[in-house]
Amino acid sequence: MSSITDPEYLPVMESFYTIQGEGFYSGTPAYFIRLGGCDVGCVWCDVKDSWDASQFDWFSIEEITKRAKDSGANVVVVTGGEPLMYDLSLLTESLKKEGLQTNIETSGAYPLTGNWDWICFSPKKFKSPLKDFYKSSHELKVIAYNKSDFKWAIEHGNQMNTNSQLFLQPEWSKEKEMTPLIVDFVKENPKWKISLQTHKYMDIP
Ligand code: SF4
Repeated sequence: MSSITDPEYLPVMESFYTIQGEGFYSGTPAYFIRLGGCDVGCVWCDVKDSWDASQFDWFSIEEITKRAKDSGANVVVVTGGEPLMYDLSLLTESLKKEGLQTNIETSGAYPLTGNWDWICFSPKKFKSPLKDFYKSSHELKVIAYNKSDFKWAIEHGNQMNTNSQLFLQPEWSKEKEMTPLIVDFVKENPKWKISLQTHKYMDIP
């Protein structure tokens, strides 16, 4: 199967039980569901293989939930691609029925669907996010690829709820160059924290 419009099915690129490497839940065991499909077009994207959803098999929400439950994880992270290209209401309903915590990572470029315990909003310059995400998200994660991204981060951070978590994360290929700048930035702007892609240092998915 290469494309189905039935909301009971979603294109899954991969799913696996690992450790969340980045952001607020860094270090937490989590079952990842990576949905296929993204049109945001980040030049530095490290999962470009996810962009074309037509190459992935579509799985029923029942099957996706069963695999998540059977993994033994308490927390499920739905990511992509851009997972909100799909209506995720049925998926979160199903995961929650099994007592699983629902976390999502999104660029905010598509309307929010689903019932989420944690929303990590990672806006991108390449496709503007929708305004609702500044209020509804628990975490803002800005990827720092060059120096202009610090000003951009502040502009977005200022629009978030006061109790949300603010993270700056070096883009992996620029990690050596950007991390010292991020260290200086968070010392000067202590509302912000550093997020590192610790799963890459641990060499786990
Ligand atoms: Fe890649 Fe994510 Fe950007 Fe899509 S939003 S292009 S998956 S980094």
